Amino acid sequence: MIRTFTSEQFIETFIRSKNKAKSLSDDTLKIAKQVIDQIRLQGESALKEYVQKFEGYLPLNWEVTDEERKQAWSKVDVETITSLQKAADNIKKFHSKQIQQSKIMELTEDIIAGQLYRPIERVGIYVPGGTACYPSTVLMNAIPAVLAGVSEVIMTTPVREEDSIAPILSVAADISGVNKIYKIGGIQAIAALAYGTEQIAPVDKIVGPGNKYVAAAKSLVFGDVGIDMIAGPSEVAIIADETANPKYVAADLIAQAEHDENARTFLLTTSEKLINETKIEIVKQCEKLPRATIAKKSLSTQSASVRVSKIDFAFDLVNKLAPEHVEIQLENPLSYLSKVKNAGSIFLGSYTPEAIGDYFGGPNHVLPTSGTARFSSGLSVDDFMKKTTYLYYSEKALCDAAPHVVNIASEEKLIGHTRAVQVRLGKD
Ligand code: NAD
Repeated sequence: MIRTFTSEQFIETFIRSKNKAKSLSDDTLKIAKQVIDQIRLQGESALKEYVQKFEGYLPLNWEVTDEERKQAWSKVDVETITSLQKAADNIKKFHSKQIQQSKIMELTEDIIAGQLYRPIERVGIYVPGGTACYPSTVLMNAIPAVLAGVSEVIMTTPVREEDSIAPILSVAADISGVNKIYKIGGIQAIAALAYGTEQIAPVDKIVGPGNKYVAAAKSLVFGDVGIDMIAGPSEVAIIADETANPKYVAADLIAQAEHDENARTFLLTTSEKLINETKIEIVKQCEKLPRATIAKKSLSTQSASVRVSKIDFAFDLVNKLAPEHVEIQLENPLSYLSKVKNAGSIFLGSYTPEAIGDYFGGPNHVLPTSGTARFSSGLSVDDFMKKTTYLYYSEKALCDAAPHVVNIASEEKLIGHTRAVQVRLGKD
């Protein structure tokens, strides 16, 4: 059962101490490094060896064919397809507002500067498929990439049934605009995307969640390619007072806790009554939950309820925690928005459960975890674009700037730099 902490205990246990995302173990990194090195050196032959070893099955072709993609549509029920399409529409609508235009700035008559926004050319999206199937991952990762103008969006996921991936993933890929789908999972997939093989062209950036092997592989290829982030366990902090409905609060805590035994769920409230009623509700609602064992473990070991004397103190705790998701279940929730300084995504009011954001609402569900919302943000169109600046100086502008450049370069003892200016002005 979710335990009650004082504010000080909460800070000590969940913010200051070891409950941060567990770093990747040396053993996992060692396995990942071995697989990556082999695939990098030997290409296809090593890729085949490791796919066979870790999946227990070697697909006939890496790529899902057009025919297979077409057939997948008949294997998914029409209602689910409609729901995916509606979710995709919302995600597109939201993310299309993030697209930035290149900027040109005439700083003076003689100086032009600017910033070009250019899409990354090739992006790989890892979609987990070991134990479950996540079409929402396809939509959330691929749609911003397509909107950014990425030339080739390549998705990869492990084979689930005989020689095929889950049909719903293929349908979600079509809805999102994914160009190619590979039937490869785990470390092998990350290595093949990062370095390429005889049959697979390398990408420039890899995004998408996965288990510890996938996370370790992403951390190792970072630098040679871009990555989105290494996500820790999922988190929600619910800020509520006596006006909140304990049924809703309990349902949202459970929805988070069922993800994973390490998922972290917090209720921060001014109301002792809400804490007590929520605990009763959690017990009731867990009775009918297929993933009750996972949820109960998370709720009893990684979660907390905290009673604060003023609602502002709940916001102070949230800002220190910087959680992935914050729910504000207070009256006039919009009026509290400015109080949240550090969070991945905020859900306002009793009728905006985090679950709507996970699948359907529009904002991205790939969010910073483990306190990293202090300095980073959720996935967006920007993650698939590069910003390149440019500058033009006329001769007159350079003449005006020269003494200042020379002063600074001389202080740095970079005489070649001073010369690069002086030589143009006939002074060297
Ligand atoms: P996965 O696709 O990430 O991993 C499966 C692959 O792991 C297999 O194909 C295999 O190649 C590899 N593997 C398994 N055991 C191995 C071993 N002993 N050595 C080397 N490689 C091995 O699928 P999964 O395992 O189901 O994990 C998915 C993860 O993604 C879960 O932790 C889930 O919570 C997370 N997830 C996160 C989000 C998010 O948005 N944050 C969304 C969906 C899923």
